[in-house]
This record gives sequence, structure tokens and C-alpha cells, in this order.
Amino acid sequence: TPDPTLRPEAQPEDADRALRPQRLEEFIGQAEARANLRIFIESARMRGEAMDHTLFYGPPGLGKTTLAQIMARELGVGFRMTSGPVLAKAGDLAAILTNLEPRDVLFIDEIHRLSPVVEEVLYPAMEDFALDLVIGEGPAARTVRIDLPPFTLVGATTRLGLLTTPLRDRFGIPTRLQFYTEDELNEIVTRGARMLGVPAEPDGPREIARRARGTPRIAGRLLRRVVDFALVEGDGRLTKAIADSSLTRLGVDRVGLDGADRRYLTLIAQNYGGGPVGIETLSAALSEARDALEEVIEPYLLQQGLIQRTPRGRMLTAQAWRHLGLDMPRVAGQ
Ligand code: ADP
Repeated sequence: TPDPTLRPEAQPEDADRALRPQRLEEFIGQAEARANLRIFIESARMRGEAMDHTLFYGPPGLGKTTLAQIMARELGVGFRMTSGPVLAKAGDLAAILTNLEPRDVLFIDEIHRLSPVVEEVLYPAMEDFALDLVIGEGPAARTVRIDLPPFTLVGATTRLGLLTTPLRDRFGIPTRLQFYTEDELNEIVTRGARMLGVPAEPDGPREIARRARGTPRIAGRLLRRVVDFALVEGDGRLTKAIADSSLTRLGVDRVGLDGADRRYLTLIAQNYGGGPVGIETLSAALSEARDALEEVIEPYLLQQGLIQRTPRGRMLTAQAWRHLGLDMPRVAGQ
């Protein structure tokens, strides 16, 4: 079974917090998003107003929460955090909104999982900084409008497609986060090793960066595991050799795929002749939730050019067959 600590959606460990960049300056990668945010933050500060509502979308572990916290810090305002599934009733959100200080950042993670009634509360709150409360029941019911302090909503989602159009349209600053390059992850791991006080040879962090699935959260996690091996079985130094042997023992292959990725690819190769095969079929055969496949496993395999999404389902590319060390079947007529 795949090691759950390698999955990016697993609960962050305490050490995650220590490695989290605090200022926009320290945030590595996402150059375009960072440059834009710098302008919008600066402008909001100059105007003395709440910054416009911002939506971060992209696979888990790429820095959505981190950027939201950085925004609050750079704006010099308070930070409140909640998530779509936690806000069960309209009143839960109303209670948070009425307790905000002017210009605060309210972060809602997994915003695509808000219930429709809670989402209804959010519309006037985002647009007019107002709360429409229904008082009484039946024919006697009436609506009272309460003013809210101006605030910045920062939403995060792994699934932009699941957001309703009215909600999506209310974000002035939609920002897509990308997978990180090896060089960017190398910087993040090198900095992380320094913060953990671990001496590193340059090739050590680079090996982790190469195998971190383009994701800072995974890079941080792999770094801590490699450091464990370096301390117990090595001389405490983060070298390429110790990184390579520990990552291999953790089931992370030389391009950074883990057990779950390889099971996914192998299944399509061996049971479905390379595809196309539908997502529901894959989900059942792998006993993995469809969401987990679509949010966590597939984005990286797509980005790496190992699979393709077609109208008839998922297909392996020639590169995936090569990676698995299997012969690509010849199709009649090709
Ligand atoms: P998301 O909200 O997108 O799932 P997080 O913001 O929680 O991701 O980031 C996951 C982890 O990765 C955090 O522990 C954070 O410290 C680290 N991280 C994310 N982006 C960066 C970055 N650009 N530089 C350094 N560390 C980062």
C-alpha cells in the first residue's frame, strides 16, 4: 500500500509550519501570481481599502493556504481560516462574517464544497459587504440587512470546475497555481534543510526536488524523511546517495512517482491495453475515490505527459509505456 504520508492531501505536520514562508519575498516560485499579488496588495494598502476577493486554484500542496496567510501579513490585517465542508449552516458563516475586523482576510479552503445555503449567504457578503438575515417564519418572515465590515475573501479550490458560476464571478482576482519546476523545488528544499539545521551537499536537495512531484508540500515531507535516514543510517549529511536510497525505499521512483501513481499507470497498461478507460472504472478497480484520482493523481501525470484525457477516457502515452518498461501494444492500422 502507498505510504499515506507521501500524499499531498495528508494532514500537514507541525514542521510544515516552520518551513512555511512568511512573506511574499520568501515565497519561491509562482512568479506570475506573486508579481500580480504584489501589485494588488500594494494598491489596496495605498487606498486603505480591503483587497479584492481572491481565488487560488490548483492541485493540493502548491501553496494556496500559504499565499492567503502571506496576503494577510503583507496587508497588515487579521487572518481567519475555515473550509467549505466545516460551514454546515448559514449561521456558521454569518457568525464568522460578523466577527471580522475591517479589511481582514477570510480564507475558505475547499470552497467548492460549500453547501448551497451557505453559498447564498456569501453572495451579498462578497458583493455589498452585507448579510441578509431572515427573521421569523412563514408569511410573517422578513429579511433584515446587516452591514459587514469590508473584508477580503480568499477562496482555495483544487477543482475550479466544481465552483458555481455566480461564486466564481465574484472573485476579482482568480489565480491559478502551477506545479513547481525542479529548480524552484531545489531552492525550497535547500532552504528547508538550512532551517532544519541539516548540512547538505548541493546534489542532495536536488535529488529530492527532482522527485517531489512538482509540489512543495511533498518536497518538505520527503526532506524530513530523508533527514531521518541521514541521521540514523548516514553521517547526518544530506547527500545525493542518502536521498536516492531513502526515496527508493519510500517507494518514490526516479521521476517522483509513488506507489499510487504507478498502480494507476500499470492498471491502464495491463488491464485496459493502455486505454481509453473511464474514470469510474479506474476508481472502482483501484478502490480510490474518483475525486482523489482527479485532484491528486491525474494532474501531475497529465503535466508530465504520461497520460492523456480523451472524450472516451484516460490513455497512456508512449512515454508512460517507456517509464513502466513495457512494450506499447501495436494497434491494427497504425
Ligand atoms: P495548499 O493550500 O495549496 O494545499 P499549502 O499552502 O498548505 O498548500 O502549502 C503546503 C506546504 O508547502 C506548506 O507547508 C508550505 O510551507 C509549503 N510551501 C508551499 N509553497 C511554498 C513555497 N513557494 N516555498 C516554500 N514552501 C512552500
